[in-house]
This record gives sequence, structure tokens and C-alpha cells, in this order.
Amino acid sequence: MRALVTGGAGFLGSHLCERLLAEGWEVVCMDNLSTGDMANIEHLMGGGGFRFLKVDVTDYIHVPGEVHRVFHFASPASPIDYLEMPIPTLKVGSLGTHKALGLAHAKGARFVMASTSEVYGDPLEHPQKESYWGNVNPVGPRGVYDEAKRFSEALVMGYHRFHGLETRIVRIFNTYGPRMRLNDGRALPAFMSQALRGEDITVFGDGTQTRSFCYVDDLIEGIWRLSESDEPFPVNIGNPAEMTIKEFAETVVELTDSGSTITYHPLPEDDPQQRRPDITRAQEILGWQPRVRLDEGLKRTLEYFKTKVRVG
Ligand code: UDP
Repeated sequence: MRALVTGGAGFLGSHLCERLLAEGWEVVCMDNLSTGDMANIEHLMGGGGFRFLKVDVTDYIHVPGEVHRVFHFASPASPIDYLEMPIPTLKVGSLGTHKALGLAHAKGARFVMASTSEVYGDPLEHPQKESYWGNVNPVGPRGVYDEAKRFSEALVMGYHRFHGLETRIVRIFNTYGPRMRLNDGRALPAFMSQALRGEDITVFGDGTQTRSFCYVDDLIEGIWRLSESDEPFPVNIGNPAEMTIKEFAETVVELTDSGSTITYHPLPEDDPQQRRPDITRAQEILGWQPRVRLDEGLKRTLEYFKTKVRVG
């Protein structure tokens, strides 16, 4: 079996490539390296069954030979990245999803779309079930990502209904783990690098906004199970253990044994006030639920960040 992973040199894409290789699949990894990094896949290069193509998925994409599954994971995914790259973010979610779907259709491959909890926007329903339609500001700064992913979902369902393409949609909630980019601006890399350097921890707003953090291995297991299932409608994959960002910052300070103090800064526009997945569908359809506790996941992630952060 052979898979194409777009965004394969990114944080989640690289873990997915690894998992597919471990399942005995051949993997074609495609990435334009705008936010991805060759360092994430170096260890996979040269081994049989893995091929890297530096390609922008918004251009015409060509993959010679058979492809049985397409995982469309290409996109900037951190708020500061998509604020810096609004047009590429919109393009990868629209043109890129179209190209990737076209390739899946031509190859007779199953298509797995990396969607996001951001389709729920600043949610008025809590926790978020897949049936919730969301509360997204289309013209706010996050709209470029949220609407691109919502459009992707609609396009995927179009291909499913019109062309009979086998499709899966995973709504990914906040995920953390090794290979997150140190400077991607998200809470975990920011807090860990600040704590390791003894710098102030930058909590945005008053820190009462909540998130629910899932360890990357759990997420990949859920995605793998979904891709093997026959469920065409969206499935939330995330960890329902919800906490405030202030609690999260305190947890990181404690774990790193850091002398850092927590400081408060303006909340970015449209920053969701609360987020927690309802994972009933994942439990029922996939028999999946997260296994890695936050303290364990954070310890593993810290080991990675210690190798990346230059202290002093
Ligand atoms: N956040 C923060 N300090 C930072 C980075 C992020 O307080 O240095 C907050 C951010 O405002 C949000 C939460 O942490 O409320 C999670 O942000 P992240 O960028 O990790 O992901 P999001 O869930 O917002 O996409």
C-alpha cells in the first residue's frame, strides 16, 4: 500500500509518515517547506519506502505510480503563521484541497482531510460535538484559516457525494509533542522555550480561556483508525481534558522547574474563549480515546525542546 501525505514534513505530517511506514506502507511525502522542516523527516530519508517531493500542493501535483490513500495535511496551522501567510493559507485549503482531491480521484485513493476544531470558531456550544455548525468570524484575522478548512470540508463532501470518492474528515483539536516548531507562536512551544530560558511566560488575556491538549501519539492513533474506518462524516480527535491557559502555563513552569514568572498580554482578536472536544463519536465509531496523560506527554515533549532551546 502506498500513501501520499501532503504537509508530510510538518509537525503532524511527519508523525503520520512515521506511523504509515511502521504499518508497512510506502510513503510519498509532499511539502513546500513553508512551515515544514526537513529536520522532521531526515531520519526517514534513505530508508526504503519513503520519498520526499518538494512541491507546493496548490500547484498541479503529479505522483507517478499507485496511490491508495491521500492524507491532506498541508497548511500553516499556528495563528501567527496564518496571520503572516493569509493568502497561502486560503490557497492551500481551497486550491490545495482541490488538487489533492483530484489526485485521489484519479488514483482511486481514499482521501483523509486534516480539518480542525477551528471550524467551530469561538464556540457557543460546549463541549463541541461534530453536529455543531460553529461560530466563525469570516472577516476576522483567523477567518483565513477557519474558512479555508470549512471550505475544505465542503469540497471533500462534494467529491464524496458527486464522485463517490471514499473520504474521511478528522477535526483535530490542540495537539502537542516533539517536532512542534519552537517559534510557531503556539502556547506550548512558547511556554516551554520561555520556561527553559528563564524568560517571562507570555499568557494572552487573563488566561481564563480554555483549551484541551492532546499528545501527538494519541492523535495519530485516532487518525489512523479513522482512515481505516468507513466513516465519511467528520470525527473530532482530541483530548477532552480541559484546562485554562493560566493552568497550562503553571503546569509548564512546574515541570521545567523554572524560575519564570507568568506575565499577561493582550488577547489576540477572535481568540476562542473555550474549547473541548466531545469525543463520543470517536469512542463509538473508532473505539478510540486518548491514553497519554498531560504530565507524561509534557515530559516527552520537554526532552525534545531541551535539545532545541539554547539556554543563556
Ligand atoms: N497563548 C498564550 N501565550 C502564548 C501563545 C498562546 O497565552 O504565548 C494562548 C492563546 O491566546 C490561546 C491559547 O494560548 O488562548 C492557545 O493558543 P495556541 O496558539 O496554542 O492555539 P489556538 O488554540 O489558539 O489555535
